[in-house]
Amino acid sequence: MEIKIDRQEFIKSLIVPPGKQISLRKDYDPGFKPDYISKEDAKTLLQNGIEKLAEFQDKLYAQDTYALLVNLQAMDAAGKDGTIKHVMSGLNPQGCQVFSFKIPSAEELDHDYLWRYYKALPERGRIGIFNRSYYEELLVVRVHPELLDRQKLPPDAKGKKIWKRRFEEINNLEKSLVNNGVIVLKIFLYVSREEQKKRFLERIDRPEKNWKFSENDVKERRFWDDYMNAYEDIFNNTSTEHAPWYIVPADRKWFTRLAVGVVIYHTLESLGLQYPAVTEEHRQALLKAREVLENEG
Ligand code: ATP
Ligand code: MG
Repeated sequence: MEIKIDRQEFIKSLIVPPGKQISLRKDYDPGFKPDYISKEDAKTLLQNGIEKLAEFQDKLYAQDTYALLVNLQAMDAAGKDGTIKHVMSGLNPQGCQVFSFKIPSAEELDHDYLWRYYKALPERGRIGIFNRSYYEELLVVRVHPELLDRQKLPPDAKGKKIWKRRFEEINNLEKSLVNNGVIVLKIFLYVSREEQKKRFLERIDRPEKNWKFSENDVKERRFWDDYMNAYEDIFNNTSTEHAPWYIVPADRKWFTRLAVGVVIYHTLESLGLQYPAVTEEHRQALLKAREVLENEG
C-alpha cells in the first residue's frame, strides 16, 4: 500500500507561525512523530522525495534565477551531519555546497559579524547548506558573553540592546536575500537533553564514533537552558513570512531526515521552477544542428 502524507498539515506542525509567540517547551516535542508514519514508511517516503528533489534541483540549476539557502541549527548530536548526508544524497554535487561555521578566525573577527556568512552564500541555481549559521551570533555568543568581547565592537554597538538589533539586522538581511532570489530556509533540529546524553554515551562506547566526541560538548550541556531560551527568543523574533523557522523533532533520526526532506521539497515546489523557455532563434539553431549531425560523413 502506498502511504501518503498531507504535506500542508505536516508543514503546519513544524513551522513557527510568523508574528506568533511560541514556547519551545510547551508547543514542540523533540520526540514527536505523526501516528500514521512508521520508520519503514519514512524510508520509502524519503527515497521517493529525494528523486523529486533531484528534479527540482535540476530545474533550479537550469533556470539560474533562484538559490536556496538552508540554515541548519541544532544542539550537539542532534543529527545535523547525518541529515545533510541523507537528504542531499540523491542530488547533483555540482549544484550543492555545504559550509560549516566554527569559532571565528582572527581574519573573520576583523570584519563585521555577518561577513563570513555573506561570503559563503549560494550563487543562483545552487542549494547552499549552512551547517550552523549566522544564528550562532545570537546563540553561543549570547550564552558566552566573552565571545562577544572578542568581536572588537565599538562601545555604542555593545550593551543590552545588541540582541534586538541583531534580530533586526538579520531580518533585513534575509528580506533582501529573498527579494533578490535567494530563498532562505531555517531549520532547527530539536533534540531533547536526555537523547543528547544517550548519543554522547554512544560516541564514548563505540570506537568508530569516538572521533565525534569532544569533552567540550559535555561542558556545554550545563548551559542547556540558556541555549533553549536563546533559541526561543530567535524563533519569536526572526520567524517571518519571507523566511520562517521550522522546528524539526530530532529524537528519532529517521523522522528528522524525512521532515527536513519534506520542508526542502515544499519550499522548492513553491517556487514553481521551470526549465528556461527556448526562444525561436534557439529552436532554429537546434534544428540546424540536428541537420548537420545527421548529414555528417
Ligand atoms: P560536530 O557535529 O562535528 O560536533 P559542530 O558543528 O558541533 O559539529 P564543532 O567543531 O564541534 O562543530 O563546533 C563548532 C563550535 O563553534 C560550536 O560549539 C559553535 O557553537 C562554535 N561557533 C560557531 N559559530 C561561532 C561564533 N560565531 N562564535 C563563537 N563560536 C562559534
Ligand atoms: Mg560539536
